[in-house]
Amino acid sequence: MGKVLLIATGGTIAMRKDARGKAVPAVSGHDLLASLPALVQEADWEVFDFSNLASCNMSPERMLELAGEIEHRLLAEPDIQGVVVTHGTDTLEETAYFLDLTIRDSRPIILTASQRDASERDSDGPRNLRGAMLIALDRHAWGRGVIIALNEEIHAARDVRKLHTSSVDAFSSGEIGALGNIDNGDVIWHRRPEPTVKLGLPEHLAHVGIIKAYTGMPVGQIEMLIKQGLSGLVIEAFGRGNLPPQVVPEIERTVSQGVPVVITSRCLFGRTAPVYGYPGGGADLERAGAWFASDLSTEKVRLLMAIALAQGIPMAQIKSMLAGRGAACP
Ligand code: ASP
Repeated sequence: MGKVLLIATGGTIAMRKDARGKAVPAVSGHDLLASLPALVQEADWEVFDFSNLASCNMSPERMLELAGEIEHRLLAEPDIQGVVVTHGTDTLEETAYFLDLTIRDSRPIILTASQRDASERDSDGPRNLRGAMLIALDRHAWGRGVIIALNEEIHAARDVRKLHTSSVDAFSSGEIGALGNIDNGDVIWHRRPEPTVKLGLPEHLAHVGIIKAYTGMPVGQIEMLIKQGLSGLVIEAFGRGNLPPQVVPEIERTVSQGVPVVITSRCLFGRTAPVYGYPGGGADLERAGAWFASDLSTEKVRLLMAIALAQGIPMAQIKSMLAGRGAACP
């Protein structure tokens, strides 16, 4: 039997309804397995209860701690075949991408979760956990980066997003598509992901902020944020990467102070690019010194920047990492 490391962090998969009928943390990683005797038989489990928190409590610092724990155990225990991390769906894609950026081990690391808590008769937790375990034990899962597995779909951490608040079919990688799926207990791979940026574990993290653009956005908000001591800023812009023209001078001043500004889009899928030449258009933002982050989501750009800036990676290199799909791996 293959050895699987189960790291429980919390989320709905580890919740039950309380006396008010509201889902709250209640189930540890050990409890989760104990309630699924069939699963216990299928792998040699090593369980670590990292936390039992809703994923709104996740922070880059906690993600760094989790990444350090996984890296340490993988190094110390060469017989571990794969790692399954249970997590809340709300910020699952952020933690998954953080692990993908920081851990270089080629063994599979799978994040899974559920939309229905453990007290629901038709909770999706057990099926999702079993799917993640099957991937952890699959030799063909090696070298595919950190992945998430829910609803019998397998997605790359870099590309996936949570799209639905409550459906069990909540995650999608858009036009990039899934890496594979689970069918009748078999792990079916469709493709290998493109190489992603690998930064290794940083000693600390830089403080990078996010601001979301909206119509009529007032001047002053960007500089107010920068005054809080940010090392970088991600602006979630419109469409291809365009902003209300009145904020462009602020971007220019921010960049001239050595604080990188990265443009992402509030569109869920597709690339940003400086294709528009009108005031506030992408070309204007590029002239002001802003960078474009291809199709990477706002939250994921922020994590990449928080690690890369803390590691002192040269600005030009970070800019090119963001521009591509990940070929620039230092
Ligand atoms: N609110 C929950 C969380 O992210 C949602 C879930 O786990 O599905 O912790």
